[in-house]
Amino acid sequence: MHDISIIGGGISGLSAGIALKQFPLKIKIFERNESFSNLGAGIQLAPNATCSVSSLGLLDEVLEKSAHPNRLLVFDIALNQHLCCMELGSNIASKYGYPYLTILRSDLHSILENKLQGSKNIEIVRGFKISDLKILKNKIAVFNNQGNRYDSHALIGSDGIHSIIQKSQFKNNSIGSNESTAFRTLIKNDCKSINKHSKDIKVWFGNNFHAVTYPVGLNNDINIVVVTKQIHHNCYGWSNPCELNDFFYLFAPYPNSEITKLIISSSEWFRWPIYKCKPIKKINEMTKSSIILLGDAAHYMKPHLAQGASMALEDSCQISYLLKKTKFINKIDWNKVFEQTAKKRVKRISKVQKRSILNGYIFQCSGILRMFRNIILKCLGNFAVDQKWLFKRQS
Ligand SMILES: Cc1cc2nc3c(=O)[nH]c(=O)nc-3n(C[C@H](O)[C@H](O)[C@H](O)COP(=O)(O)OP(=O)(O)OC[C@H]3O[C@@H](n4cnc5c(N)ncnc54)[C@H](O)[C@@H]3O)c2cc1C
Repeated sequence: MHDISIIGGGISGLSAGIALKQFPLKIKIFERNESFSNLGAGIQLAPNATCSVSSLGLLDEVLEKSAHPNRLLVFDIALNQHLCCMELGSNIASKYGYPYLTILRSDLHSILENKLQGSKNIEIVRGFKISDLKILKNKIAVFNNQGNRYDSHALIGSDGIHSIIQKSQFKNNSIGSNESTAFRTLIKNDCKSINKHSKDIKVWFGNNFHAVTYPVGLNNDINIVVVTKQIHHNCYGWSNPCELNDFFYLFAPYPNSEITKLIISSSEWFRWPIYKCKPIKKINEMTKSSIILLGDAAHYMKPHLAQGASMALEDSCQISYLLKKTKFINKIDWNKVFEQTAKKRVKRISKVQKRSILNGYIFQCSGILRMFRNIILKCLGNFAVDQKWLFKRQS
């Protein structure tokens, strides 16, 4: 039986574990933290993501824990104007076969983790931070700081945007320097002022900033993300506590706007750095020998299309799809399987990364460009925001 090591127990690593556990493989997931993060950020799961969730056998659990937004609405905050709208709910579910959901990251993570519980061929090794990796003849050895070693036939690097596997084995890094800063909060849906916000995803365009609000989880709590052009060096991770005043000057000119009223109702804010993104071009940026990178380790992307986790879920489903077509599981040529996986993924991921970058410009443009943007969005309406190429089921 072949041994597989998966480095990182985030959405990518756990979903890869689920995708592989049906095969006669011995899988170890190495996670550096003793316990999994329980952070309160929300995640949008567009129909392509819920399709992957369904392929992993998790749709019922995810449906149960998710909010089901009715519409996606786009506004210009300075003009206090509604620009366009896309119907979500049953409309999008019948169009693409899968729903558009929003869920707490911690809930999605727990669902993935629970699915792995009791699987005889998977072990999650917590508190094991991989610090080194060596490619040997027919084996890959990983080491932690205490000198412990584990050998496997193939390795999946799912260790996130600052991936050690990426840095040690691949030349092109998809992540550049810090380019902007996002601020986020989660507002409990227990005060009257937010009831009217609770069922729609709303995107607010400003001059050099934008904000996104959406309901998450069973209680329809409101997740808010404000993206600014601020640069903060030496700021890592997505949970650096900060103050509303760090960015409130952007909203101060619009005191009567719905979004301004909403953001002042939270005093608990966190800051998170957004990096320059270099879209992936070639399969050898994702795979080499019997190693493949998945999720953010392979293809960091800006959050302006809300697709980072969705792409990680799709990556995992792709490997499983190709393995199902491989007859001799004990003689697997991992090099070939990973190459085929990367070949299937690179073009699509690159397009998603580029579109996320473009969205950042569109959401925050000013002057004459902003005027044109608004006219186009008003004319196109639903067509401007519906992303058929992205949401439709992948073969
Ligand atoms: C605030 C925010 C909002 C977002 N919203 C959306 C959204 O709406 N929709 C969407 O699809 N995506 C969204 N994303 C993106 C999405 O969350 C990420 O793309 C996704 O979580 C990536 O998962 P991952 O498993 O690749 O990386 P991570 O979640 O970063 O997981 C990596 C794991 O590897 C572990 N690790 C790292 N190094 C080592 C090591 N050396 N040894 C062992 N373990 C290690 C880490 O501890 C971690 O558990 C959002 C991101 C953020 C920050």
